[in-house]
Amino acid sequence: MKDKRIDRRNFLKTIGATGLGSVLGSARLKAEPVDSNTCAKPKRAEVPELPKRKLGKTGVEVPVLALGGDFNFVDEQIRLHEALDWGINYWDTAHFYGRGNSERGIGKFLAKDPETRKKLFIATKASGAKNEDEIEERLQMSLERMHTDYIDLYYGVHMLDDPERLTDELRQWAENAKKRKVIRLFGVSTHKNMAECLAAVAKLDWIDAVMTSYNFRLMQDDKMQGAIDACHKAGTGLIAMKVQGHGQTAHWVDPRCDVETEEDKKLVEHFLKRGFTKGQAKIKVVLQDERFSSACVAMDDVTIMASNVAAVLDKTKLSQADFELFKEYAQETCSGYCAGCASICESAVADAPRISEVMRYLMYYNSYGRKVEAKELFAQIPSHVRNKLPRLDYSRAEDRCPQHLPISKLMAEAVDKLA
Ligand code: SF4
Repeated sequence: MKDKRIDRRNFLKTIGATGLGSVLGSARLKAEPVDSNTCAKPKRAEVPELPKRKLGKTGVEVPVLALGGDFNFVDEQIRLHEALDWGINYWDTAHFYGRGNSERGIGKFLAKDPETRKKLFIATKASGAKNEDEIEERLQMSLERMHTDYIDLYYGVHMLDDPERLTDELRQWAENAKKRKVIRLFGVSTHKNMAECLAAVAKLDWIDAVMTSYNFRLMQDDKMQGAIDACHKAGTGLIAMKVQGHGQTAHWVDPRCDVETEEDKKLVEHFLKRGFTKGQAKIKVVLQDERFSSACVAMDDVTIMASNVAAVLDKTKLSQADFELFKEYAQETCSGYCAGCASICESAVADAPRISEVMRYLMYYNSYGRKVEAKELFAQIPSHVRNKLPRLDYSRAEDRCPQHLPISKLMAEAVDKLA
């Protein structure tokens, strides 16, 4: 069970000395003075508006930091209040986040305070929809759940993994939804076969934006870079998710003391000298790439929220040495991170066994500490596929894996923990 009490020492550790200092200096934020035994709530005196960037060629500007909404906001209304307190008014959710209670929680919030809707940029996703009828059904449900007449950015395909899904029927649905003014912008999200999906999206001018996994690890991949460039040149808005680059083998530890290995220690110490926590540096390295308009980040508590806001308000640029250290760290720890390039490994094993999907659920279990959700997602894989996962020969997939993942071992671990 995570201890949500934050003492001042840990608050400083999380928010980062320079980050805190610069925000305090420029924004007159203050953390309430507390002793180490009390529950400290950093208090906002006045937070400047978060910087905004243009979302591709849409003409819309979005804040550079979005609240990742995979939570039960019905029971955690405080998190939405805190987000607004810290100036985070871009909220990203999905049909199935929190078993629907993410959208319902936003609806509960807006039912009490309808005026806030005008200040928000809300994105949601048609999780699990297999065709346009199901997209429409989910959209209507999202509108109803969130007590709103429109969605600012609607991801009609959540978790795109095959460009074949980007059909003319999908284009017609998107255009029609915009005409009806139930969505302002249409997009897709992807964290499997991202390079192929992004390259396909770049060729379609009816897709306004794409949300993709992107972090200090994935930025080392040339194919990914080429696809991101293509989107940027085409004017497709880019939103980054999974920016912390958590892998399958790391175990959930409190982000305030996220040091498991010697490699972690080196990275943490380097960035603390620069004035940032590791988490802040990971956000900064993504946002220093101006092709991206925003980074969507799950924020478990108010201290992490404050820390992330400090990171995006701070104007310090990461240096070449910082980038080099991230590259080195990514290389040293690559065998603990699945890069989602499923077309490489899944074609090497008979019956396409959903390797990258299982790896993602294992990541949720191990690195995010979201054991219940990870098990629920795993249970959605058809039983005939799940049952054969431990018996398959993954040796050819391991030979091809660019991250050198011990796939066989990790699949066995996943079955053991998630089944
Ligand atoms: S297991 Fe390896 S090849 Fe397969 S998706 Fe993950 S990183 Fe790519």
